[in-house]
Amino acid sequence: MIRLLFLVGVGWSVALLASPTWEIVRVGRVDYVSLKSFAKFYGFTIPNEIEPNRPFVMSSAQGNLRMTLESREMRWKGVRYWLSHSLRRVDGKVLVPRVDLVKTFDPLLRPNAEIAKRPLQGVVIDPGHGGGDQGTRAARGLSEKTANLDVGKRLAKLLDGAGIPWVLTRNKDRYLDHADRSKLADDRPGFIFVSIHFNEDSSRSTDGWETYSLSPQYAPSTSSGGTLVGDEDEIWAGNSYDHHNFLLTQAIHRAAVTAKTNAPNDRGVKRARFKVLRLANSPSVLVEGGFMSNPREASLMRTEAYRQQVAEWIFQGIVAYRKSQETLPSGTRLSVAKTNKVSSSTPELRPVMNLDSVPPYRPKAASTNPSVATNQSSGTNPAATAQSIDGEVRRAVPVIPDKKAN
Ligand SMILES: [Zn+2]
Repeated sequence: MIRLLFLVGVGWSVALLASPTWEIVRVGRVDYVSLKSFAKFYGFTIPNEIEPNRPFVMSSAQGNLRMTLESREMRWKGVRYWLSHSLRRVDGKVLVPRVDLVKTFDPLLRPNAEIAKRPLQGVVIDPGHGGGDQGTRAARGLSEKTANLDVGKRLAKLLDGAGIPWVLTRNKDRYLDHADRSKLADDRPGFIFVSIHFNEDSSRSTDGWETYSLSPQYAPSTSSGGTLVGDEDEIWAGNSYDHHNFLLTQAIHRAAVTAKTNAPNDRGVKRARFKVLRLANSPSVLVEGGFMSNPREASLMRTEAYRQQVAEWIFQGIVAYRKSQETLPSGTRLSVAKTNKVSSSTPELRPVMNLDSVPPYRPKAASTNPSVATNQSSGTNPAATAQSIDGEVRRAVPVIPDKKAN
């Protein structure tokens, strides 16, 4: 009997070995997979030379992926994204953060794989701030709370035109608690939550769009510079929707920054634990549609035409997201994988999702003995983190890109 059980165990091991091999390397508290196994799975060609701080491009049938060693910055099909941790090289191996493999790359590169569709039934439109909460400093006569509401109402009209139901968290100038905003989606199955904001920075030259998804469990927020601060192991309601959060966020961001006319500067798809995103019981996104502290963008925001443009970009992103959630004919679900020169059989693809179920690190009992020795510095920026994690910040902390990133 004992021998039989042993043989069964061996059988399982062999079955697992038949799956794609994900080479997992732990550095400090962070798990990585090798770029080699990443490239093999998604069908990318790795360049011969990868130098620190110099972007390199990997190509596949799907498109070009541009990344940089020692940087969190990544570009996919020309749009900017921020990874949870920097790419690293240890013992000659280039490493990709495991949490980004599961929460960033897989939704981008295999949007239709393994995850149930959530057909769009409607939109909770959340114009940020209101009442005594002005939001960012007024851009000469226009406060953020007013601009947010105006864009929200314009978005509602666009949704009406497309026959998509909507509800506004506020339709006038009044204060609302974060929890009261998020819960509007609770009894509306199939709704998504879209929070509308404008940005502010101490530098008047800072401009452009940043669009936020809830940080996945075990991942730092973008503003932390890749630093784990210890509360990333908390699970929030919003994390049930990581895959859809990310698809929605990047769809809206892409619609804006790739617009044919007046495209804003691309500050990237980012992650944060804003309270409205943490509490949302639905796929959710927070849009920062430009900087009121930037004179050029502020003067644009004072025009109806531009606020209409902002609403239209958000609308276009929502429509693109809705399309991604339409049921695909059976047999096409894994077409992405088929073009990627990897096996298209479902069992082969599952191990990626299995990675998801394994916590990449245990912050409360952090090991002081990394399983892989490294002589590299952490490469992280100990910039302010608390204010971005405790509730929605009034002023979005601008990300200081890794110094060495371009
Ligand atoms: Zn705001």
